[in-house]
Amino acid sequence: MADARVEVGDPALEEEIRRVGGALAAAFPSAARHPLKALDSRAMDLAAADEELRAALFRFVDVAPACRSLDDLAAHLSGFLDEVGDKPPPIAAAMRMADTGAGRKALGAAAAAGVRHMAHRFIVAETPHAARHLVRRLWHQGVATSVDLLGEATVTAAEADGYAARCADALERLAAIHEDLPHRLHLERDRHGPIPRPNLSVKVSALTPLLRPDAPERGMRDAGARLRELLRHARRLHAHLHIDMESLDSREAVTDLVLALLADDEFRDGPSAGVVLQAYLRDSPQLAERFIGWAGATPRAAPLVVRLVKGAYWDHETVEALQHGWPTPVFDVKADCDRNFEALTVRLLEACRDGAPLRLAVASHNLRSVSHAIAVNRRLGGGDRDLELQVLRGLGDDLQDALATSGFRVRVYCPVGDLVAGMAYLVRRLLENTSNESFLHEQARGIPLEEMLRAP
Ligand SMILES: Cc1cc2nc3c(=O)[nH]c(=O)nc-3n(C[C@H](O)[C@H](O)[C@H](O)COP(=O)(O)OP(=O)(O)OC[C@H]3O[C@@H](n4cnc5c(N)ncnc54)[C@H](O)[C@@H]3O)c2cc1C
Repeated sequence: MADARVEVGDPALEEEIRRVGGALAAAFPSAARHPLKALDSRAMDLAAADEELRAALFRFVDVAPACRSLDDLAAHLSGFLDEVGDKPPPIAAAMRMADTGAGRKALGAAAAAGVRHMAHRFIVAETPHAARHLVRRLWHQGVATSVDLLGEATVTAAEADGYAARCADALERLAAIHEDLPHRLHLERDRHGPIPRPNLSVKVSALTPLLRPDAPERGMRDAGARLRELLRHARRLHAHLHIDMESLDSREAVTDLVLALLADDEFRDGPSAGVVLQAYLRDSPQLAERFIGWAGATPRAAPLVVRLVKGAYWDHETVEALQHGWPTPVFDVKADCDRNFEALTVRLLEACRDGAPLRLAVASHNLRSVSHAIAVNRRLGGGDRDLELQVLRGLGDDLQDALATSGFRVRVYCPVGDLVAGMAYLVRRLLENTSNESFLHEQARGIPLEEMLRAP
């Protein structure tokens, strides 16, 4: 297989993708196993059907991190929903309640309860310690985790210190949680060797209040000091540290900082660490080449993990570019993004096959994207254990179950934090899930499997 090549549209490869996708779809749990989901789906349908409502929710995402309580949030939410002209009936009824003092109070309480209910689908617990039962249960079910501490807006040095301290504490807790769990070979070893059990995802923007595109050096220096400490911590605890990627204005600074730190002699023997590649960016193939080149030229004990995603800030990048009259840095057409995702999957798996010290983690809920990655990996001679698949808690639960029961290595990204801090995360997920072009939305609409697995 050393010289096997992957050609776009190869009929044998397409056949294998259909086979893999069909087997995974058959392994999805039946809907009856998740009766609560039906409730959430109604809220999702409402948001999907109404552009004005979606716009109100987008504005809400911007203010959410500044809110201090659920009541405060509910008040803002009512305010934004008030601006929706032609309200869907359930929202119109709710807004009528807001006309009286008692009604406003009831609406606030109902909104807070609704938010709490939705939030628990996506946010696993308030603290890493409180998440321990879930993390352990998942491991027993053959599912690995990556914990993410919520709290997205860091505006002071004290907040950055606080986030770094919470991350250090989370690493300790995760190491303890995983200590006495039984062996799960496919979760902890691939052809490169051992894979750390504790896994924490961190955001560089939360490690400094100074990360600005016009003066990246200051932010990098400031975040770098805190990130260095976290890397030391992770190495001592044999944990994996994954650096999330955020919007484009911080991408270069985050990439430069992380690659420079990991290349430092101090971290030659660890920890295992990873970066994110966003396929919706038109120039992502260049960044992929940079990761491949860097990994080949930087001797480290642990291979660099590249998490391939489509990207969570599509609307933000599009609006920002339009406002400034810049060309959009992201693909405008969803199928172009999906095709690029597949091309990057092939490029990274070929680099792995050719000996680059890289691990690929394909993070997607799209059955076609995931089945394509599995089929390409097999075509190139890789074992199923050499590919990691990742999903978000609450969005990819069914796919996670199907992958785990089919013996694949799947890792679920588990946000932890209080619900107010998690609001921006929550609404972003809601909007993503209700976009007409989202795979999950199409799946919920009952698109036939054959169509879902068709090449983009
Ligand atoms: C474990 C995990 C970790 C993640 N970490 C990160 C991270 O660090 N940074 C980050 O940015 N994202 C991250 N994401 C989110 C990810 O980028 C996607 O937003 C999400 O997974 C949806 O993509 P999909 O393949 O599941 O679904 P799909 O429905 O196939 O794709 C939806 C995606 O397509 C893209 N898209 C939508 N409309 C268009 C259009 N008109 N033109 C072009 N492209 C379009 C957008 O990126 C959108 O999110 C992560 C996801 C997972 C599962």
